[in-house]
Amino acid sequence: MMTKNNVLDVLIIGSGPAGLTSAIYTARASLEPLVLEGEPSSTGDQPGGQLMLTTEVENFPGFPKGVMGPELMSSFREQAMRFGAKFETVKASKVDFSEKPLKVWVGDTTKEPTYLANTVIVSTGAKSLMLNLPRETELIGRGVSTCATCDGFFFKDQNIAVVGGGDSALEEATFLTKFASKVTIIHRREKLRASKIMQDRAFANPKIEFLWDSEVVELKGEGGLSSIVVKNNKSDASSELQVSGLFIAIGHRPNTDIFVGQLDMKDSGYLVTNSPSSQTNIEGVFACGDVQDDTYRQAITAAGSGCTAAIDAERYLESNIHN
Ligand code: NAP
Repeated sequence: MMTKNNVLDVLIIGSGPAGLTSAIYTARASLEPLVLEGEPSSTGDQPGGQLMLTTEVENFPGFPKGVMGPELMSSFREQAMRFGAKFETVKASKVDFSEKPLKVWVGDTTKEPTYLANTVIVSTGAKSLMLNLPRETELIGRGVSTCATCDGFFFKDQNIAVVGGGDSALEEATFLTKFASKVTIIHRREKLRASKIMQDRAFANPKIEFLWDSEVVELKGEGGLSSIVVKNNKSDASSELQVSGLFIAIGHRPNTDIFVGQLDMKDSGYLVTNSPSSQTNIEGVFACGDVQDDTYRQAITAAGSGCTAAIDAERYLESNIHN
């Protein structure tokens, strides 16, 4: 592990499609990036990001036959290593961006910073909020999904359900009716949070049904999801719904806790960048991928923004450090 005596040109925090694309580009530019790729945790953190929790990815360009999520991320990583990117399987615990060089800690935050860097690329991603049901993690990619755009195609002519009452749930449900024979939206209240236009669209869709005041309490199926148990939280009555797909659309949370008070963020926690660049409010700190994207959230858009951040970092170094 490098010490504070070495000031890195590029330190990348996060190793999903955004961080690894930044690593490929900055490594090819001979900037010798170091990637803090994270550590697996019980809350779903994974080196490699959210694609490590998916099965087949069919919409990543360049893979006409599809590719497994973990295999895709392993290829990204291998490509970055080929050009000299270095990896540490650790999580950043604290940052101090108040002066240069930028400081990043791993582990004990009372000690000296673990890394000093001229630029930091933040690509810590976001997490889909989950229901925290038994078997939920095991069934991700086997019926349980958090991304209709990614997985809707697998549910042609099947009965599926969507959990949530916000814009995401209604948007996903409406999109899923292109494939599914029936989509049941399960919402814990009797009033939707979604915008009126999304509600009108969903109410008008003959393939969408609503289960109000209801919560999913159990996931069933051998090898893959085959049914769910739903409880009405007013009557306490339980019923079993035969569905092969369950899309959880109850919101996302960006992984930005360690940047609070350092980087500008929206109320929702997503980092603010000076679009179309990846520049944050701190010179030399760039953000890319889902940590700053609450709109598109796709692997390919994350990868594209990782490229942007790498080029921004390279230009910053040329103008301010290597001149
Ligand atoms: P959201 O607006 O926070 O809605 C989350 C929904 O999930 C709420 O209905 C909430 O129920 C429900 N929920 C939360 N935790 C739950 C749990 N543990 N169990 C069951 N249900 C739970 O999140 P979002 O829909 O992802 O939207 C986030 C933001 O993006 C919003 O500002 C939204 O307008 C925007 N967005 C816009 C578009 C668009 O305009 N096309 C599309 C997607 C998202 P309660 O209602 O009871 O709290």
